[in-house]
Amino acid sequence: MDKNDFLMNLFGNYYNDNVSKIEPPSNTAKREFGFMFFRHSAVIRHLGFENDEQLKTFLIREAPSDVFYSAASYNQPDMPKMSLKGWEGCDLIFDIDADHIETSCKNEHDKWNCQVCWEIGKGIKPEKCPKCGNSKIEEIKWLCDICLETAKQETIKLVEDFLIPDFGLNETEVSVCFSGHRGYHIHVESDIVRELSSQARREIIDYIKGSGINPELHGLQEVGRKRIIVGPDTKGRGWEGRLARYIIKFISELDENQIQKEDKSVRKKFSTLLKEKQKVVNYLTRHPPLWDAMKNIDINVWYLISERAINMAKVEIDEPVTSDIRRLIRLPTSLNGKTGFEVKPLKLNELAEFDPFSKSQVFKGEFTVYIIDVPRFRIGEEIFGPYTNEKVELPLSAAVFLLCKGVARID
Ligand SMILES: [Zn+2]
Ligand SMILES: [Zn+2]
Repeated sequence: MDKNDFLMNLFGNYYNDNVSKIEPPSNTAKREFGFMFFRHSAVIRHLGFENDEQLKTFLIREAPSDVFYSAASYNQPDMPKMSLKGWEGCDLIFDIDADHIETSCKNEHDKWNCQVCWEIGKGIKPEKCPKCGNSKIEEIKWLCDICLETAKQETIKLVEDFLIPDFGLNETEVSVCFSGHRGYHIHVESDIVRELSSQARREIIDYIKGSGINPELHGLQEVGRKRIIVGPDTKGRGWEGRLARYIIKFISELDENQIQKEDKSVRKKFSTLLKEKQKVVNYLTRHPPLWDAMKNIDINVWYLISERAINMAKVEIDEPVTSDIRRLIRLPTSLNGKTGFEVKPLKLNELAEFDPFSKSQVFKGEFTVYIIDVPRFRIGEEIFGPYTNEKVELPLSAAVFLLCKGVARID
């Protein structure tokens, strides 16, 4: 049996069986759609549908591997050229992907494999297969609990620290979904954001990534002839309060290990802080805070700590996804062809508890695949692998995952 036919059949059944669950975007008729298919590799875009029913019929009939729609609305979304579509506005989209976040696990589990001779290797894929010289090499970006938990924490930070308190968005205007692969997408639909230019969206990115935040401008400075240190209050708005809160977090989490990573010149200062950690934290959480109480911590040390704090407080978002006002994004409730997982819409209050390795699995049954090489992975409550060159019967969701990832084949 051909792998592509097998997967296409399963995806088609999913769309057929879940037709009432599929959530077309708002204003389907105004959106551009794009698809990828199992039998050819190019993205087909510039498609339009008159209504939700037409879209659903297409999904069932064509069983695409991946489904995308435009965050933008257009007067004529199916025109072949962007300039002819008549742009009318665009949702504000954020993409948080483990690809853009440093995690310890990535160098361990990301691999490549040659699609011709099945040679495999760790890390970034080579131009040509060292064994057979072919350039048909697939990268296997693996995903694990660490990657997805890190991405999830960034997502929660974006919503709870930025979108709702700082931007004043309402919970009903923000929706979150698991991307079905290595991250989360955040969609903001509101009249306030619709007409923002790409430039304006770049300003939003800078704010969220904390680019150019100057602690001095947020109140951390020396004042008067006696050069008394004053600084931000945790109750301050925007970056002021965030700076204060994350400086406290940094100090609370400070330990010997952390100090050893620093330059020799600052280790001594940080050690002083470590010794009086609780006292400092108490001073800084007062209203107003007491920044001047630590006599041997000068303003430059506070600026250095501010840098560390900003790094902890910012959110790693994928910039082009937010700034490009003509981009396509995965349709929530569709399937991700890289994994066979559902692009799962989530309520804000379910996000913290959401487990992508169980709650985005849609296939039932068992299936036997020939596995080339996979690290240990989890589906639901069960741990599988590692496997190398062996035939294994797996739950269908796990088998589909490996087939989509290109690390197994149908025997
Ligand atoms: Zn090869
Ligand atoms: Zn990982």
